[in-house]
Order: sequence, then C-alpha cells, then structure tokens
Amino acid sequence: MEQTKNLLRRLTSAAGVPGFEGEIRQILREEMAPYSDIQLDRLGCIIAKKAGTAGEPRVMLAAHMDEIGFMVKSITPDGFLRFTPLGGWTDQVLLAQRVVVKGSKGDVPGVIGSKPPHLLDEEERKKLAKIKDMFIDVGAKDREEAEAFGIRPGDPIVPAGSFETLKNENLLLAKAWDDRAGCALLVEVCEELAKRQHPNTVYAVGTVQEEVGTRGAATSVASIDPDVAIILDVSIAGDVPGLKEGVQEKLGGGPTVCLYDASMIPNINLRNLCLETAEELGIPYQFSVMERGGTDGGRIHLHHIGVPSLVIGIPVRYIHSHAGILHLEDYRGALRLVTELIMKLDARTVAGLVE
Ligand SMILES: [Zn+2]
Repeated sequence: MEQTKNLLRRLTSAAGVPGFEGEIRQILREEMAPYSDIQLDRLGCIIAKKAGTAGEPRVMLAAHMDEIGFMVKSITPDGFLRFTPLGGWTDQVLLAQRVVVKGSKGDVPGVIGSKPPHLLDEEERKKLAKIKDMFIDVGAKDREEAEAFGIRPGDPIVPAGSFETLKNENLLLAKAWDDRAGCALLVEVCEELAKRQHPNTVYAVGTVQEEVGTRGAATSVASIDPDVAIILDVSIAGDVPGLKEGVQEKLGGGPTVCLYDASMIPNINLRNLCLETAEELGIPYQFSVMERGGTDGGRIHLHHIGVPSLVIGIPVRYIHSHAGILHLEDYRGALRLVTELIMKLDARTVAGLVE
C-alpha cells in the first residue's frame, strides 16, 4: 500500500512535458529493470519486455509518460516569458497558477501573471483571458537576468503542484495523474506478472508525446508489432457539480472500460473478455464514452493490419489542470483487472479475438 502511494507520489511529482519525458523514463527504467529487459525506441519511448512462458502472443501495454505543460517561446525585454502550450489546456485554468521552468541551471519557479480585479474594466470582466496574452513571471528584472537564471526559448515549463493525501486517505490530489497513473500501473503490473506464469510476452511501454498527437504510440507500436494491446490512461470522473449529464464515471466506482472515444472503438471480444474477468473477480467497473479526444489506442489499433486493442482507465477529477483527484481503490481495481486479463491472453484466445 505505502509502496503504491510512494510510486504514485514519485511519478506525479516528476516533470515530463511532451518531448521532455527524461525524468519519467528514468523512474520507469529503475522500477521496471528488475522485472524486464529495457529498450528505447528512437523517439524516446521506453519498452520493458517481460517474458512469460511463451514468446507469443506479444501483448503491448501502453501508458504515456508526458503530462500537459508549456514551452518558453520568447523572453520579453523586461524579463517575462511568453509561452506556448504543449497539450490541451483551457484558458481559464491557467491564470495565477504556479509553474516551474526547467532551465539549463536548474529549476526556476514562476507564476502565470494575472490582472488584479481592481484593474479590470467592465468589458474585461466579462471576457476570458486568452493563453496567447498570458505570460510567466519568474522575478527577472529584464531579459538578461532571465537568461542568467538559465532560461532560454525552447525550455520546458511544468505545472507546479504538490502531492497530497486528502482526509479520506483513499483520495489523492496531485498534478499529472494523466497519465502517471497509467505509468504506475505499468510498473505494478510487471511486478505482479513477475510472480506468475503468464502465457505470453508483455511489452510495457511508456510512450512519449501523447498529449500533442499520440506520436510515441506510433513509433513504439512499430517497434513491437504486437498481437494485442491494452492502453492504460485516465478517464474523466463526472461526479462533481455542474458537469454535463452523460459523464457516468465516478471516483471509487472502479476502473473504466472505454466503449468509445473519438479515435477508437475497442475490439469487442477483448472488451467482453475484460468485462467477464472483472465479473469473475468481483472487481467493480464503469464504462466510459468520450465523444471528443482519444488516447494512444487511436494509433496503436491501426498499426499495420490492425491490433485488437482496449483502453482501461482510472477515473480522475479535474484532468488537464494543475490538480486532479484519484481514488486508490480504482487504481487497485485496474491493477488486478489488467493483470488477470493478461493472464488470459494466450495464443488461442488472442487468435480468436477477431472472429
Ligand atoms: Zn492521457
């Protein structure tokens, strides 16, 4: 239990915006090396090969290492940073948020500047601030000083946010659950499989650049050429005031099985096998339907002649912001469900997935 929490703390506290996933890759390497053979693809995805009792089928397990963040675009003459978003931010979650610039001389803390209410006129109060008008204040007196802090255009900028256990100790507040929750599952599923005889070979992959267009999914799936794939990501918990009707997932309701997203419809036999497995084990589960957006699965299932694929999620409140909430029981349910599903993926079962 403490081990799981420590892993989640470590992974969410580390920095890894799209294209800059090195810290996460290093953690996954350390955590998975005892159970697997580690390789990298040429875009930076980490592939941990965990051999079972058979070389085939090849089971790809994928979670993305990157979190949404920003990049320094330019430094103004008076020392403020203009930035470009990396991934899907909405403007209104950004103002007054703390960030960390990963500069060449180490971390530089800063804040996304906002106008105090005293200075907003009536028209401005009605409008939403736009990302393109925002700036980051690192306390530099001018451009030269910002450069002396080690900041250059192209540097990654990471949301700042501490890991907290809420009063209900199953509820964890952190940045970057999307998709460090999935990264933690990669580690713990491999650890579980190391104690078992699984009838396949598992390739646990930390992908890069999911949030800017599922790019690492494309390269890693080509490296592995899997027979079947399970994608581990977060889903949207809708159990908060004011969310549109139709978001059915809630915290504590169990892992989610994705029925549809804008980039993929899962393999139906694999989906049904997953649901049967959950029922046999008494693991509660929920369905997710995401009419906009997708996951690495969108790329993976279209590889070569097609890869039967399924997305299993962990519901999180407030994804794509500085602070999300995850329920540990949902994480634990996902860990058991994914492990037991992999145990069933022998050659015969996988061959039957497309019939
Ligand atoms: Zn994600």
